[in-house]
Formats: sequence, structure tokens, C-alpha cells
Amino acid sequence: MTIEPFSAVDLIAQKRDQGQLTKSEIDWFIGAYLRDVVADEQMSAMLMAILLNGMASEEISNLTNAYIESGNKMDWSELTKITADKHSTGGVGDKITLPLVCVAAACGLMVPQLSGRGLGHTGGTLDKLESIPGWQANLNQAQMLEVMQAAGAVICAANESLAPADRRIYALRDVTATVESIPLIAASIMSKKIAEGTSSLVLDVKVGSGAFMKSADRARELAKTMVDIGNSAGVKTSALLTAMDVPLGHSAGNALEVKETLEVLAGGGPADVIELTIALAREMFATAGVIPEKDPETSLQDGSAMDVWRTMITAQGGQVDAPLPQARYSHTVKADKSGYLTNLDALAVGTTAWLLGAGRARKEDQVQAGAGVTWHAIPGQQVVEGQELFGLHTDDESRLPQALGVLADGFAIGTKEEIQPRLPLIIERVS
Ligand code: URA
Repeated sequence: MTIEPFSAVDLIAQKRDQGQLTKSEIDWFIGAYLRDVVADEQMSAMLMAILLNGMASEEISNLTNAYIESGNKMDWSELTKITADKHSTGGVGDKITLPLVCVAAACGLMVPQLSGRGLGHTGGTLDKLESIPGWQANLNQAQMLEVMQAAGAVICAANESLAPADRRIYALRDVTATVESIPLIAASIMSKKIAEGTSSLVLDVKVGSGAFMKSADRARELAKTMVDIGNSAGVKTSALLTAMDVPLGHSAGNALEVKETLEVLAGGGPADVIELTIALAREMFATAGVIPEKDPETSLQDGSAMDVWRTMITAQGGQVDAPLPQARYSHTVKADKSGYLTNLDALAVGTTAWLLGAGRARKEDQVQAGAGVTWHAIPGQQVVEGQELFGLHTDDESRLPQALGVLADGFAIGTKEEIQPRLPLIIERVS
């Protein structure tokens, strides 16, 4: 029988009583959990104690490190260019990763992006890419290297050996109401990004109804916590706080967002998607300390970002010229009067897309590639009675009534004076 150096009950009590855990105590608690010496209920109690009492920055760094050490760290030292990545805390219509990695690679960075699938009302990057016929999310490290050498960027699924402790603990947090803790979110996100082996990282921390963090104060605290973890682990890290009170672009849904990405890569597309892509690309170069080989905006006009996309998607088996899947049913919502679109709530639009089948309620659920919402007006814009405002798309017509009900509460037509104030798209930089 192994004699354990600590007692799980004592460590839980220590955290419950607002004490601070040492590095060896944290390392032991996480390791013992993976060995099934610490039980799920003990880990749950510890997570709740952390949620209620917080953690000092040293404890957060030690927790992040324990997650990283539970698996393998990737190494890109063979690459000839500097690696940089971006992580978004998740939003509605947030397809920015797709054009952004192409812009960053076209201008001289290499992007090794390990990404996830969506849960709830925010979409996952892998779900969007999986709407492209043939595209494969699962690559090993040698295949990732090959794609990066060919295209300059790769987006694929994190494998089982990347921060496995986080994977197990995140699933437990999900069912114990302990997701919304800044130390736990920060350690979870940053352990995966540091283990991914990128040398620099830009965080896009969303603020607003459609985001994890509803207030700028909470988002700023999360951003600062993650930036400090990254920099103290030797990954040059900065963050932008950006708006998620209104959804991004003109569509939310997997294939719909790939379609919008292609518009942006072809030099068009919605102004907010272009603005945020360029701002994050500039931030990636500034944080990495690399001078771009060309202006990021130029890469969208001269086709070089599109070239990266085509090479990257093809290298992962994607049929880059194949038509994207379309939902079986579409329903149009028209303006019932003339006036101004006074608001468009990100959470309502995200929930509508999710109800239509674009997202999943449980990890095991399948998503519909063609499902989602498109909108033809943005808040502040004048609309006329009878004008098409929204398209709702789904393979399952029975989903429409509930989705329509949620969407109806998420927008309004009124007078110019009733237009609701919006957050600026880029709120502030945290470094
Ligand atoms: N995303 C993660 O990976 N972890 C969290 O805790 C929250 C969001």
C-alpha cells in the first residue's frame, strides 16, 4: 500500500478555510485524482472551495502547471518561423479563428492551433470546419507539423494526452456548478495553450450577453489572470477584451460561418469580422515581437490568406471547392413594421442557432452542419416593413417554433431614440 504524503480531506478543509495550497499539495491532489486516490466527490468539494474562496496567483500558476504535467507538451522547435496562437473565450457568430490563422500565416507567423467542439450556445471551431466535406480534425504531431510546413497554420483537435487532468476536471465542473470560477477557467484554458507549445498567444476575451463573462470587470480579471499565467510560463501573452453583446458578422452556425469566412478571405464580408480579424492579427504580431511580412489587411485583398486556407483545408482532407452543406428547411422572419433595429441580443441569437441544431446540449450530441441563423440587418440600421430580417435554417422542422420564440425576444424594431447603446467592438487591451 502506498503511503500518501497528504490527506485529501485536510487539503479540502484548508481551502474551505481560505488557506493557500502549496505547489506540492496541488501537484499531489491533481495526481492523486488521476490515480483515483482522490474521489470525484472530494475533487468536487475542492472545486467548490476554490470557486467560493478563489486562489492566489501562485496557486493558479501551480494548478496550471499540474494540468500541463499530467500530459505531454508539444514542441515546435523544428519550425523556422515563430509560432503564435489565439484563443477566444467563445461567442456567437465567432468565426474569427478561421480567417485569422490564414492572415497570420500569410503575413509570416506559424499557427499551431488545437481547438475544441462547442457546447451550449457558442460554436466550436472544429464543428465549423467539420462542415467542409472530408475535413479531418484528428492529427498526430507529425501530421500537424506537415500541415504547418505546407500552409503556415493548422487547426485540429487536442488529443487525449494534452492536459488530461483538465479534461477530467472540466467534465466534473460542468456537473457541479463550478465552471464560473476565474482561477479554474484560467488554469483550464492556459494549461492547454501552454501544452500546445506556442511561443506566443493572444486571448480574445469576450464581454456581453453572449459571452461567459457578462461584465467588463469580470472579463478584465480573467484576461489579466490568463496573461499573467502565460507570461510567467514563458509564453508571450496579451489579451483584447472584445464585444459580445451583439453577435459577430451575419451568421451563426457551422457551414454558414465557413461561408462567411470565405467571403472575408475573398476580400469582402462583414465589417466587424474584418475589423476584429485584423486587430487580432496585429496583436499576434506585436505580442510575438515579429514584424509582419505584409500588412494583414493586404493579405485579405491579394488572395494570400485565401491561399493559406486552401492549402490548410486540403492538407487535412477537406474538399475545398465542394459545396457546403445546406439545411433542409429554411424559414424567413420579416420586419412587421418600419423603424430601426434597436437591438440584436447575442445570447438570443446563439440560443436560436443552438435550438435549430447548430450546437449540442451534451458532449455526445451530433451537430447539424447546415443549421443556424442568418441576419440581414444589424442594430442601429433602418428597416422597412416586410423586409427580410432573419433566416432560420435546420434539418428538423419541428425545431422551428421554439427557436422562433427565443429569437423574437432577442430583437426589436423601434424609433431612432430607442436604439440601445452597444459596447465598442474592441474594448481594451490587457498585457
Ligand atoms: N474553456 C475551457 O477550456 N475551460 C474552461 O474552464 C472554460 C472554457
